[in-house]
Amino acid sequence: MYYMSTRNKNIKVAPSRAILDGIAEDGGLYVPEEFPQFLRSDIRDLIEKSYPERLATVLSRYLTDFDFEELLEYAEAAGDKFDGDACPLLKVEDDIYILELFHGPTSAFKDMALSVMPYLVSAAKRKNNDDNKTLILVATSGDTGKAALEGFRDMEGIEIMTFYPNEGVSGIQKAQMTTTEGDNVYVAAVRGNFDDAQTAVKNIFCDKELCDRLEKKGMKLSSANSINIGRLIPQIAYYFSAYADLLGSGEIKSGEKINIVVPTGNFGNILAAYYAQKSGLPVNKLICASNRNNILTDFFDTGEYDTNRSFYKTSSPSMDILVSSNLERFLFDISKEDDAMIRELMSDLKANGKYSVSNAILARCAEFVAAGYADEEDVKTTVCNFYESCGYVLDTHTAVGVSVYYDYLNNVNEDAKAVIVATASPYKFAADVYYYLSEFKVSDSFLAIKKLNSYTGLDIPEGLQDLDLREQRFSDIIKKDDIAAKIAERYGL
Ligand SMILES: *Cc1c(COP(=O)(O)O)cnc(C)c1O
Repeated sequence: MYYMSTRNKNIKVAPSRAILDGIAEDGGLYVPEEFPQFLRSDIRDLIEKSYPERLATVLSRYLTDFDFEELLEYAEAAGDKFDGDACPLLKVEDDIYILELFHGPTSAFKDMALSVMPYLVSAAKRKNNDDNKTLILVATSGDTGKAALEGFRDMEGIEIMTFYPNEGVSGIQKAQMTTTEGDNVYVAAVRGNFDDAQTAVKNIFCDKELCDRLEKKGMKLSSANSINIGRLIPQIAYYFSAYADLLGSGEIKSGEKINIVVPTGNFGNILAAYYAQKSGLPVNKLICASNRNNILTDFFDTGEYDTNRSFYKTSSPSMDILVSSNLERFLFDISKEDDAMIRELMSDLKANGKYSVSNAILARCAEFVAAGYADEEDVKTTVCNFYESCGYVLDTHTAVGVSVYYDYLNNVNEDAKAVIVATASPYKFAADVYYYLSEFKVSDSFLAIKKLNSYTGLDIPEGLQDLDLREQRFSDIIKKDDIAAKIAERYGL
């Protein structure tokens, strides 16, 4: 099976090539040419399997130039980094289940893909006889940076450099990154906000002179963000896994359709749920939950995607996004693979910061997706109410999902069971969660972790324990124009 570009269907490459390229040569995103189908019996077969076996099963159907045995090896190696069960499903009340995706090394759902992706990258290099050293550059607003560092550290043939904005990551996120171990890692703060860091890193990829100097040293740049299919495809697996768990415990009948609720930023996680549905997972509705940056809610309401608007910093920072890159893949599929339309939309976006789709396309979107948003007050109320009614401590991102789902239920008459995706441990955003629950403000995030622990009795994830006592290995604060010089210095170019 091949992957093709959303902007030109004639550009086609093998899965391993798509993983190495990251993005298609015309700037489009790689999408599968066809969707492998899981029959009801295939889904039932997952019930008895471990998560690594479920992951390898799904990967092997999408990444057809990898074989099952090797994928199982990678999935098991990734699974070893998790604390117990990779993605437990908890029943919290009638018809509502929480799928916890935060038991990886960095306590956010990015680990689900970034723990296995490095093995896929290494194998893809072997398959394509690429013996360059791969230099992964990451600009991060918080969660991706640490998950990529943990995933790629000490991987043979790979170097990783992560840049985070000096203003704009939480104390916990910063400490997670600057204390990372491993010989092939580097971390620096860039003066400015996330856009500054992201733009500076993007410019490196277009810096012909630097790329030539890297090539002379046998090195090649690559990225680990969510437009790479190496991150997207592993995310499909946990939706099948959740369904298999519901079947196995007798909560649903085979073929019963469920709702899936996803707190959304870049549209990657919810797109993976849509791909699962395309591959045969019985889904009633996908619920796209946004925070106060509700550009997706407006898009699904009106058909217009308009980035000319205020940007808010919220208590769910990993969803503070105005350009949801993976929406391009969804619209490509919804429009029956209309690559000319996608080219037009993306050139409108580049020129005017906005685009609109036809009513026919919008109506098709609505068959699959219902969208809503939660403001900061809703998040606070939801964290408190959910703790009181279910005894469950939500993180701020997951609370957006829960709030939007309760609104949804108020407006429709449905009895579908719902899986709500929990994307982070509440400890990762401890200061806000503790404040919501207790009304006490603690500005030191490490103290907030301890306070939240004594308030709720919930175990602190291993990766966040004693974070303040670990050795800080990286303290560089650089100007955004100095990234190229840093790379040159580190690799003696
Ligand atoms: C990245 C992230 C999200 C958003 O996921 P997308 O795939 O970008 O939609 C939500 N919650 C947390 C905690 C995240 O780290």
